[in-house]
Amino acid sequence: MSEPQAVLLEAGLVVDGTGGPSWPGDLLLQGDRILALGEGLRGRLPAGLAPAAVEIVDCRGKVIAPGFIDAHTHDDAIVLRDPLCLPKLSQGITTVVTGNCGISLAPYRTPRSLPPLTLLGADSFRHASMAAYRAAVDAARPALNVAALVGHTTLRFAAMQALDRPASADELAHMAALLDGCMAEGAHGMSSGLFYEEAFAAPAEEVTTLARVVARHGGVYATHLRSEMQQIIEALHEAGDSAFAAGVPLVISHHKCAGPANWGRTRETLPLIETLAKRQQIAMDVYPYVAGSTVLREDLVDGVIDVLLTWSDPHPEMTGRLVADIAREWGVSEKEACLRLKPGGACYFQMQEEDVERVIAHPLTMIGSDGLPHDRHPHPRLWGAFPRVFARYWRERGLFTLEQAVHKMTGMTARNLRIADRGLLRAGAMADVVVFDPATIADTATYDRPHGLSLGIERVFVNGVLAYRGGTGDEAATIARAGRMLTRAGA
Ligand code: ZN
Repeated sequence: MSEPQAVLLEAGLVVDGTGGPSWPGDLLLQGDRILALGEGLRGRLPAGLAPAAVEIVDCRGKVIAPGFIDAHTHDDAIVLRDPLCLPKLSQGITTVVTGNCGISLAPYRTPRSLPPLTLLGADSFRHASMAAYRAAVDAARPALNVAALVGHTTLRFAAMQALDRPASADELAHMAALLDGCMAEGAHGMSSGLFYEEAFAAPAEEVTTLARVVARHGGVYATHLRSEMQQIIEALHEAGDSAFAAGVPLVISHHKCAGPANWGRTRETLPLIETLAKRQQIAMDVYPYVAGSTVLREDLVDGVIDVLLTWSDPHPEMTGRLVADIAREWGVSEKEACLRLKPGGACYFQMQEEDVERVIAHPLTMIGSDGLPHDRHPHPRLWGAFPRVFARYWRERGLFTLEQAVHKMTGMTARNLRIADRGLLRAGAMADVVVFDPATIADTATYDRPHGLSLGIERVFVNGVLAYRGGTGDEAATIARAGRMLTRAGA
C-alpha cells in the first residue's frame, strides 16, 4: 500500500482569507502546496493522483481557512528554545511575525541582555545578522513559519554605547548598515518601540532615516507609538509623518488608548488614522483584551488600574497576584511594591472595552497576539488571542462577519507584512491551512489560568504537513515541525 501523498479536506465551509463570501467545498493539498479548491474534488482528482494516494478528511460543519498569521509577536527566541510552539499552533497560527516593538533578536550579540530586550529572554542574543538568525531558525525547525522584523531598539543596542540620547551621525550610519544587511537577507521590515526608555531619546528623524532603508527594500515599518496615553495624537502624527517621509507602509502596533484619562479616545484616533490612510498605506494590529502587558514599570502603576504580576526576579512567589494586594501585605505603596518586585513583568488593566471593540472592528485592523512567551504567568493573549476573536467578537458580539474575522488574521496580514504566497486559499499557494469548528472555537486561557489550549481547532497544516490536531486533554498535540523562516515578498 502506498503512503498518502495528498490530503483532501472535504465538504467544509471554505473561508479563503480575502474577506469575500465563503462557500461549501473542498481543498486538496499535495506536498507543501494547495493543489486545488472546488466542489466534489473527490470525483475529479488531477491526472496522476490515484484515489488511494489521497487521505480524505471529513470537514462537514467545519471551516477551512488559511493558517492564521500572528501579526505581532515576541517569539524570536521561543521558536528556537521551544520549537513545538504549542501556545500558537494550538490557536491555528501557522506564521508568527517576530521582532515587534523595536525588539528583535537579530542583529545583536551580547552575553546578557538588558531591559526591554529581556522580553526575549536574558541570554538569547547570539545572532549578529539576519542570516545568522535564519540559520538558527532553520536548524531549530520550529512548528510554524517565522517572518522577522528588525527592531530599532536592537539596532541602538548594537550600535550605541549610551541610549539616553539621539544616535550620532556615525552611529546612525552603523544602524543603517546593519538594517540594510538584514533587509538584504530577507527581513520583512523594521519595528520601533519609542515608548520604551531605550528608544524614547531617538528623534523622529533617526527613525525616518532608517525607514528610508526599509523603503529601498520594499519592507514595512511597524511602531509601538511613543505614547498611547495623553500624547497619542502627537505620537500618531509622528509615526505617520516618519513613514510618509520615508515612503514606507506603516503598521501601528497594538493600537489602544491606555489609562482611564484616555478611555474613549479611539473616537479621535481612528478618524485620524483614516485621514492619514488617504495619503499613505496604514494598518493596525490589536489583541482582544482590555489588559496590556509588558515589563514592570512604576510609572504605569498608578493606584487606579489593576496590575497583575506576570514575573518577578526577586519575588517569584508573588507571580500571578495583584500588585495592590502585595503592597497591602507588605504595608507599602503600590509604587514601592513595584520597585521591590523589579525586574519583573505585569498585566495592566488599562483599556476600556468600548475602545477595544472599536479598534478590533475597524477595517484597517488585523489581529496580533503580542503574547509574551517567557513570562512565568503570561497574559492570556499568548494562548488565546485568535480563538477569542471568534468566540467573543464574532459569535457573541457580532462585530464582523466570519469572513472578515478570518481576513483580519490571514489575507490582510500577509499583504501588510509582505508575506508572499500565504494568507489566502488558492491553487498554488503554500499549504498553511486550519480546520476549525465555528460553533465551538474559543479561548480557555484566563488571567488566573493563562496556559490553556483553545477549543475548536481541529487540524493545523504548516507547509502541507499536519502539524497539530486538536482534542481534549492528551489528544491535542504538536505532531510535526514543518515551519520555515520566510523571506519578504519580492526579496
Ligand atoms: Zn509593544
